[in-house]
Amino acid sequence: MKSINPATGEEIATHTELTEAQIDAALDRATATFATWRETDIAERTALLSDLADAYHDHRDRLARMATLEMGKTLKSALVEVDKCVAAFRHYAKEGPAMLEGGSIPLASGGNADLVWLPIGPVLAVMPWNFPYWQVARFLAPCILAGNVGLLKHASNVQGVGALMQEMMALVGAPDGLFQNLPIRSGAVAAIIADNRVAAVTLTGSEDAGRAVAEQAGRALKKVVLELGGADPFIVMPSADLDAAVKQAVTARIQNTGQSCICGKRMIVHADIYDAFLERYATAMAAVKTGDPFDPATDMGPLSSEEQRRTVQEQIWKMKAAGATLIGGETLPGPGAYIDAGILTDVPTDPALMGEEIFGPIAMLFKAADIDDAIAIANAIPFGLGSSVWTTDPAEEARFVRDVQAGMTAVNQMLSSAPEAPFGGVKRSGHGRELGPYGLHEFMNLKSVYRK
Ligand code: NAP
Repeated sequence: MKSINPATGEEIATHTELTEAQIDAALDRATATFATWRETDIAERTALLSDLADAYHDHRDRLARMATLEMGKTLKSALVEVDKCVAAFRHYAKEGPAMLEGGSIPLASGGNADLVWLPIGPVLAVMPWNFPYWQVARFLAPCILAGNVGLLKHASNVQGVGALMQEMMALVGAPDGLFQNLPIRSGAVAAIIADNRVAAVTLTGSEDAGRAVAEQAGRALKKVVLELGGADPFIVMPSADLDAAVKQAVTARIQNTGQSCICGKRMIVHADIYDAFLERYATAMAAVKTGDPFDPATDMGPLSSEEQRRTVQEQIWKMKAAGATLIGGETLPGPGAYIDAGILTDVPTDPALMGEEIFGPIAMLFKAADIDDAIAIANAIPFGLGSSVWTTDPAEEARFVRDVQAGMTAVNQMLSSAPEAPFGGVKRSGHGRELGPYGLHEFMNLKSVYRK
């Protein structure tokens, strides 16, 4: 598997895929480690999480550089991502023990059912490249705390990140097999899911990958958590602070060069403020500085690959053919998968079209006649991951919270995940949750112990 720097098109490294025998050995190692790790007490697990936080902190520059080289995000944002992993490891180290308290239910027939959280075994994580550390960390921290062990199938283009994550585990003296990075292609995943040594699977990625992995997990009757795509609505009402909304609408769409599952992708603006919003938004998007991701002055690096840029271009052509108008969004010449920030207006409110997840810095802009129209546009697509709503009217806010079909709603702010809060979607954005106690419990056995 090749790592190619998307800023230059140059090959950085090749990673050799594991053979079947090596995968088999890795599963044996996971099984053996689980047999002892499941018996460790919580203090040992939280100590390891704290050590891991320290290791990520100490190596933050090296870790961040690898992400920038492999998938093109700005170095400054890669550093923020590594720091977020540190925060997550610390959070689970500190709050984890309380999350594992099960409680007790009194029974009408007498006695109690005492609830005990137990680990379930090796969990396979299939992960994407867009936040290559964070997506894995939000699986790994609860995995370690729960007493499970982890197997990572990372995206093909960020194998260097996968290898560094394994190196961090070795550095803190984690048992061999507690977390194993498996350099494999997606074709090798089905056999691992079917293998009896693996207890469950979690996938963050596209709808197609989610469907394939869910089918395989279903056939093996294994628990699966799916964190899939989104085309999140970002709704702005007349009472909102327009300047703040415009500023955050820019950040939402350009962060990570638009390659974030929960960034606002469809800006739905009330008709009364539509023209004012568009004018300010177009000016701010045009001012976004695209360029070398290692340069601190750069707002936005390249897309993650040439292939990713082609996909975005094809989506733009499709939108234009359907009558949309593109402002900005030019493909930049020269080496590197660069594209400027852009806005599509006059996009037909056809669910198939506006339900396209544009994984690049191109916003879709819609005019809503009123709150009912705004909610109807927001909900018209098959996805339901995140949402951001801008209003100072409490009644409007309550309607958005109740009626926008999404796993998360951010009020008067851009949506961004937090280590402490559950994360996940509804509809075709997936099922299950990561993070918080709910995420931790997804891959645990809640045992009821009946006592007189
Ligand atoms: P992707 O192509 O689905 O890849 C994600 C992972 O799945 C990669 O490791 C990939 O391996 C693997 N994979 C692909 N097809 C597979 C199959 N048939 N069986 C088993 N594994 C398979 O997604 P991506 O392009 O890397 O990431 C972008 C997508 O992820 C977007 O849709 C985005 O919204 C979504 N995402 C969702 C969240 C969330 O939390 N909901 C977060 C981030 C991203 P290879 O690289 O080897 O193909």
